[in-house]
Amino acid sequence: MSRIAYVNGQYVPYAQAGVHVEDRGFQFADGVYEVVAVKDGGFVDLEGHLVRLERSLDELRIDRPMSRAALSVVLAETVRRNRVRNGSVYLQITRGEARREFPFPTDTAPTFVAIARHLDWAKGAANAAKGVAAITHPDIRWGRCDIKTVGLLPAALAKQAAKEAGAYEAWLVDDEGFVTEGSSSNAWIVTKDNVLVTRKPTHEILSGITRSAVLELAKQEGLKVEFRPFSVAEAQAAKEAFVSSATSFVIPVVSLDGKLIGNGGPGVVVAKLRSLYEAHAATHSTDWQAPFLGP
Ligand code: PLP
Repeated sequence: MSRIAYVNGQYVPYAQAGVHVEDRGFQFADGVYEVVAVKDGGFVDLEGHLVRLERSLDELRIDRPMSRAALSVVLAETVRRNRVRNGSVYLQITRGEARREFPFPTDTAPTFVAIARHLDWAKGAANAAKGVAAITHPDIRWGRCDIKTVGLLPAALAKQAAKEAGAYEAWLVDDEGFVTEGSSSNAWIVTKDNVLVTRKPTHEILSGITRSAVLELAKQEGLKVEFRPFSVAEAQAAKEAFVSSATSFVIPVVSLDGKLIGNGGPGVVVAKLRSLYEAHAATHSTDWQAPFLGP
């Protein structure tokens, strides 16, 4: 079956799906994106992703191409046309195409593209069952990581370093030696007293939609959460650690830079959080209260 992409109002075959060479996403990384999981035919946390998308657009003063409801229809149609029941949908909105000048163009409509792809959730489940390795990598990103922009080169460099080290994720480390987040996930640890620790959603991290859902589930479970930075040494000495993201859900991190965390296998707190999140994902709930997405 041939794949179909949505490009500026049309559903087109992949081979014909393209944007202009003077698109500002291409020239300036002047655009934002979202990735929404599709599980058993339904979106996971769609509302949250669309709320964050609008925030990212507003922060960069990029026009919204359409209403939230219309956007949901485009995403659903992209998923339907590609017959994706389990996978993800990626959408990107840029400031549009314009003659290459640094200041914003005044008369340009945003570019909006969406693609859907299949994903084997069994692989994630296998990773969750045995846990994954992470490495640390300097956080060389810009000062507005709370905006989900397509400026992902530092993340790509970090992820490549992880891949070359045989690790699943790179945990980014700030100038003071504290972990900010993963290259494409939020980073968490569990202390000896079963307290969850994750960084406050400041400009230094992306406030993950999965993170928000996990926080809510943890609260319902009666788990204590501390919002503060943690060092690499604290993470290595933690009882458990994990990452959260739309396409990985909750995955235990069992080693950091080769040092085993806890007993070197998935722990009970993270296993519980993953099963709670899986149950939450299966509901395809659209009931979503906007948490703090950034200052
Ligand atoms: N942090 C970064 C830098 C990311 O790129 C991502 C996801 O791509 C996340 C965190 C997790 O966010 P979400 O749970 O909304 O997928």
